Parts: sequence; structure tokens; C-alpha cells
Amino acid sequence: MFMRRGISRSTTVGAAAALALSCALLSAQTVITPPDNKYTPAQDVELGRQAAQEIRQQLPLLDDEEVKSYVEGLGRRLAAAIPRELQHSEFRYTFDVVNVREINASALPGGPMFVNRGMIEKAHTEGEIAGVMAHEISHVALRHGTAQASKATKYEVGSVLGQIAGAIIGGGWGQVVSGASQFGFGAAFLRFSREFEKQADIEGSHIMADAGYDPRDMANVFRTIEQEGGSGGPQWMSDHPNPGNRVEYITKEAEKLQVRNPIRDTHAFEQVQAHLKRLPPAPSTEEAAKQRGRPTGTSGRDVPRPTGRVEPPSSRYRTYNEGNIFQVAVPTNWRELPSNNTVTFAPDGAYGQGIFTHGMEFGLARNESHDLQDATDELLASLAQGNPNLTRPSRYERVNIAGRPGLRTAVSNTASNGSRETIQVYSTQLRNGNLLYAIGVAPEQEFPSYRNVFDRVVGSLRVSE
Ligand SMILES: [Zn+2]
Repeated sequence: MFMRRGISRSTTVGAAAALALSCALLSAQTVITPPDNKYTPAQDVELGRQAAQEIRQQLPLLDDEEVKSYVEGLGRRLAAAIPRELQHSEFRYTFDVVNVREINASALPGGPMFVNRGMIEKAHTEGEIAGVMAHEISHVALRHGTAQASKATKYEVGSVLGQIAGAIIGGGWGQVVSGASQFGFGAAFLRFSREFEKQADIEGSHIMADAGYDPRDMANVFRTIEQEGGSGGPQWMSDHPNPGNRVEYITKEAEKLQVRNPIRDTHAFEQVQAHLKRLPPAPSTEEAAKQRGRPTGTSGRDVPRPTGRVEPPSSRYRTYNEGNIFQVAVPTNWRELPSNNTVTFAPDGAYGQGIFTHGMEFGLARNESHDLQDATDELLASLAQGNPNLTRPSRYERVNIAGRPGLRTAVSNTASNGSRETIQVYSTQLRNGNLLYAIGVAPEQEFPSYRNVFDRVVGSLRVSE
């Protein structure tokens, strides 16, 4: 059961960073200007509130006063250090601890933040936890979530607020509600552009310094997270891609900030780590999802689920126009299942709860490297976040897709129920460099009869951007 994913929205916001000299001897800290934003701070609050409500119902929150008050105390201290010009009176910074063992943290527009228990357990110092939280707080204060949505094309994110909320919860949302599959907690949130990442690093270093922490601990925690690894790499890194030279520019900024006697290890930090050791160990995100079973849906939606009874693809085809970006013809017995940022075509019985067993998904992905193969590698790495048993491609075939250079590769996946499936991936580029991809999924044994269908569907593609 292959997991669907939300695509990343493309943005081209320049990191508005200006250097100024405050005096002859000391260079001043880098000035960060929030990116353009079509939304109001009140809209940030509203969609963050909606998303937080669903997340609180779906994720296992750690109900432990000692841990909660420690993280809240740390969060309040950082939030109080947000510079005046980035404070929004509507915003409420809240801090929840998710009882899962992977290192991760996420923040929603308007202020709700979720810190994984694993983040606190694996940090070497309090400064490291502060580093991740200051980075997340900076995304919120700079309003990166809605700024990113402001830049997206209609197809990529949709125009109404509800869809933005959905985009932030992401294509991964179906994965969160699906007890059957693995899911990445971080997949439920926006993946930020590298420009926004750098802004959050720099602003976060200022907030840390003002709150009494050494910004170099932010660089340290990113190393800690990288070492955490796991199949497909740590989720946090996938949601917060390294803009390049991360450690170097944070270190440089830290030198300008000159924090004396920074807070590093505190008694409270040692106490909370010792306390966590005495609690039953945190489950993995995957285990937590299984333990929670299959929620029937908090909004009463009757979510279909794959039944395994699937008709073979019809030999007749129907054409769909997707957001004036592309046209594609698919077997007439496949349904069009638009998601927030992707569209899946699948027969009845083959889809539901964020997964599909037979069919094809189309989506767009940001391509900052502008190299087709690099972008396709990145796409596959992000697919592996939600599908930990996905193999890596051994080679790419060069193919023609809609008159453009394209790539095709097949990989295999073992779903959490043990069934094996073959995934055929196609990619090409839009004129703006972003990746248009198609993912064909079929059970391994049925793949030989689906391969030609996938090729025929992709052969029908007409791309207008
Ligand atoms: Zn980030």
C-alpha cells in the first residue's frame, strides 16, 4: 500500500538579508525581512488552530506535567525573545510534547508547536532543544507557512483557506489517520524552501541569543539530527532542507551576537531527561499509529479503504485537465482523486486513507537544483520518508515525456502488511524548472500487466507550463 504524499510548493522568495555596520568594530547582526504574504495574521491563527486541533486528536501527546512544564517554560522564554517587529498580537505560542521516539518538531501558523519526546531525549544540551524550537518559532513569526502558500500556483495549493490548512496538514494527513501504514509525523507539515530555512536559522539564532542561549547549539542540534538518520534520513531534515553551509553561517552569525555565559546544561534539563528514562519508552511514530488503530475520523467522514478487490484497467481512456498545467488520459474505470497538491487516479477498491495499491499519482515538486536527476533523487528520498522499505533506483532510463526530456525508473516497496509492490516513477520538468512527476503503483505480481498501462498514461501527457 503505497503512501501518497503532498507535494512541496515552489517559492522564489529571496532571502532578504542585509548587512549593516552598527559601529566601526562590530558588524551588526543580519537583518531578516519577512517575505511577502497575501494572508492576514488572523488567517495564520485560524488555519493553525484548525490543524492543531486535528493533530492533537490524532497524535499521542505526552500527558506528563513535568515534561510539559519544562518544554513550555523553554518555549515561553524563546517566544518572549521574538523581536518586537515580528510579534503579532493575535499569535499564541503553545507547546505540546508528542510521545514518539524520533527526533522531530513542527510548528503551525499562529503558534502551535509540537515537539517529539525523542527530541528532548536525544538532545545533548538544553541549548540544542532551544535551537530547534527557536528555528520553529522563527518560521511562525516570519509567517513562512502562509508566505509559501501565497507564492504557490492555484494548482499547487488551491486558493481557499481550507485548502491551505489541508496543505499544511499535507498529503501526509491520510497517513496519520491510517493505522495500517507507516507515516512521518513531519510529513504532516510544510516543507520549507531553502530561502525560508536560512531565514529561520538566522532569526532563530537572534532569538536564542536574546533568550540567553548560544546560537552555535542550533548548529550542533542539526548535526545531532543528521546523525539520527534512519531509512530515508530524519524527517526533520526533509521538512527543513539544509540551504547549504548551515553550520558555517550560523557560527558566523553567533560570532556577531556575542552571547556571554550562555545557558547550556541546566539542572532542569538533566532532571527532565532522567524523568523521561523512568517512563515507559516512547513508541516509534509507526508503532504509535498502529496502537491508535484506525480512527473513524473526527469529522465523521466515512473514509474508504483499499479492499484488494480491483478491476483490471479498462482499455478505454478518459482525458482529464489538471489545473491548466497538464492533460492526461487514464483508463475509464479509474477515478480522479484530487488531493491538496496531487491527483491520483485509481480504480475502486484500490485507494483510501492516504494510500493506494493500484493506479497513478501525479504531482509537482519544487526543484531548486534545476537538475532533473537530482530533483528525481530528492523526490524518491521524500517518498522513502513515508515508505521506509522503498528501494533506491539502480538506474534511470532517459525517456521522452510530453516532448520533453524525462526519466523513468522502477523501485520496489514492501508495505507494512508485508505485501510487495512495484513503483514506476516518471519525471520531467516544467518551464520554471519544477518537477512534474507520475508514480505508478501495482502489486509486484500484477506489475507486468500494469507497466504498459503506466507507459500509455504517461504517453498521453500534454504539459502546458
Ligand atoms: Zn525550517
